[in-house]
Amino acid sequence: MQSSPTRTIVETLTRAIVEHRLQPGTKLAEQKLADHFGVSRTLVRQALFQLVQKHLVRMEPARGAFVAAPTVEEARQVFQVRRLLEAEVVREFIRKVTPARLKALREHIAQEKAAMGREDASERQQLLGDFHVRIAELADNTVLAQILRDLVSRSSLITLMYQRDSFAAHSQEEHVELVKALAAKDEKRAVRLMEEHLLHVEESLAFDRPVPTHDIAVALA
Ligand SMILES: [Zn+2]
Repeated sequence: MQSSPTRTIVETLTRAIVEHRLQPGTKLAEQKLADHFGVSRTLVRQALFQLVQKHLVRMEPARGAFVAAPTVEEARQVFQVRRLLEAEVVREFIRKVTPARLKALREHIAQEKAAMGREDASERQQLLGDFHVRIAELADNTVLAQILRDLVSRSSLITLMYQRDSFAAHSQEEHVELVKALAAKDEKRAVRLMEEHLLHVEESLAFDRPVPTHDIAVALA
């Protein structure tokens, strides 16, 4: 069983990272965290270890813990896996769809829409990420929802590092279209919309910076 102070630290730090209040590369000093949460360094270390497993924190020998800074390659892999998993989440949701589940999803996108008009970018980011986890939860697949929650957290960190400008409004519109396809139980369209949506998010990341190469033909192309 996980002790509750550890869980509190994990949840608080995850939120701060996902909501972009803690930037990639930020040092997470054990003593400062212990003082802040009023717990022992042992508990802080346990929490940090869990965040390492979620890929939100990295440990460096003799230097300590830092907020992770995902590479382009890692970012691409995260989105690749999300496209695979979330196509299945969509199918599962349609298999189990009920009016109550659709209502819950519609309420979520109404919250997103309301957040679009507000200043708080971290709230927007949180709601847009939660939408994806929500579909898995409403499809009643706890394992998928857990895996997706971790992948969505990693995606938020990736978005923070690489997204060009605000893509939020575009994402929100795509969520609305997706929910329409889910309500129509149009599996083919819903799967395609989800895959396209995740591709669009990936395309909004600034991965097109020139990669250094030893091949002159490539470099001068
Ligand atoms: Zn989305």
